[in-house]
Amino acid sequence: MDSAEHVIIGAGLAGAATACRLTEAGADSVLVVEQEDAPGIHSSGRNAAMIRQLVSDPEIAALGREGAAFVRRIPPDWDEPVQFDANGSLLLGLGPAAESLRRDLAEARRAGLEAEWRAAEQCLAQVPVLEGAEFEGGVWCPTDGVVDVAALLQGYLREARKRGARLLTRCAVEGFDVRNRRVEGVRTSQGLIRCKTAINAAGAWAGEVARRAGAADLPLAPYRRHIFVSGPLDWVRRDWPFVWDVAHEVYFRPEPPGLLLSPCDEAIVPPGMPAEDSAAVELLGQKLERHLPRLADITISRSWAGLRTLASDHKFVIGWDRVVEGFLWVAALGGHGVTTSAAVGSLAARLLLGRRVEKNPFDPARYGS
Ligand SMILES: Cc1cc2nc3c(=O)[nH]c(=O)nc-3n(C[C@H](O)[C@H](O)[C@H](O)COP(=O)(O)OP(=O)(O)OC[C@H]3O[C@@H](n4cnc5c(N)ncnc54)[C@H](O)[C@@H]3O)c2cc1C
Repeated sequence: MDSAEHVIIGAGLAGAATACRLTEAGADSVLVVEQEDAPGIHSSGRNAAMIRQLVSDPEIAALGREGAAFVRRIPPDWDEPVQFDANGSLLLGLGPAAESLRRDLAEARRAGLEAEWRAAEQCLAQVPVLEGAEFEGGVWCPTDGVVDVAALLQGYLREARKRGARLLTRCAVEGFDVRNRRVEGVRTSQGLIRCKTAINAAGAWAGEVARRAGAADLPLAPYRRHIFVSGPLDWVRRDWPFVWDVAHEVYFRPEPPGLLLSPCDEAIVPPGMPAEDSAAVELLGQKLERHLPRLADITISRSWAGLRTLASDHKFVIGWDRVVEGFLWVAALGGHGVTTSAAVGSLAARLLLGRRVEKNPFDPARYGS
């Protein structure tokens, strides 16, 4: 029988960052278990890789700034570099979306984010393909960009292993040993693992994993979203920022030699590898034609779908379960898990080690017990 003080369920960004920050903070008995053959197969390997710091929720925004700062200055003792293209971002607005962006901008600047409002002509000069697009201006955030997500995930895991953590792949958590409402072990496809804490970083499966432990039944749901990559486009500049039209919910960014795009579609689906739906490419076509007409004729060369798991209030769920002692949630990172991962891991590590946490807006206790 195996044992570890902390068993982390899931080797996506949530689990990997938690292992990294936990070992960095001094824990030496950490085991990450992953049901797949390799880490990062699900949401953490199927996203758009954008580091976006301007969001409406001020508490998620704070984690975003902390996570972005980590990505911009990867610790010097990491063995491998993590590529970060600091091209910035342009978040475009129109009408109420522009007003909401201006409010978010004011709040972000008060919190220290370097960002400014840019008139439509300035945006157009920066990204000429916005000609004919429907927007009145946008927020320019120069410290946003695109990160090599695979390298970031591997970096978290490598650093955790250097400090003694272990990773078991093809190891699915099937149940828990819970005595007197306290976790004592995790039952897996590779046998029982004794532990003091079980960390639920199971992404789209977080609700299912919690049910197996008898933990709180929280309102979480996986939302499918599609990503499309164009064929080669010789007019795309690699140094363009990512452009997110928040009024019409569609985004694009350079993916040399073409573009990566998403129509920001949302459909609740079960956990798993989501099947693609042809309605998404139609939605993309409609949005480009109406709102980004210069992109309307591009051809798509590949596509995939991934899951963003959201709590009903769209806040992350990071904190101790109120029903089962020793069961920590690190879940529901929605569409922000790349940007915030280092900060999420750090918060989880502080909770696990009983360190002081001033205020935790992500505590599952907000849903009652
Ligand atoms: C299309 C799309 C675009 C996105 N773009 C961005 C972006 O640009 N920027 C950004 O910040 N965020 C983005 N995101 C969000 C980001 O990808 C997620 O928030 C993040 O990857 C969630 O990480 P996770 O570790 O919680 O989940 P996952 O990566 O899904 O990891 C969970 C892991 O748990 C494992 N697991 C589950 N159940 C068990 C079990 N019983 N036993 C063992 N292992 C188990 C799974 O196999 C999986 O590997 C995007 C998401 C999508 C879908």
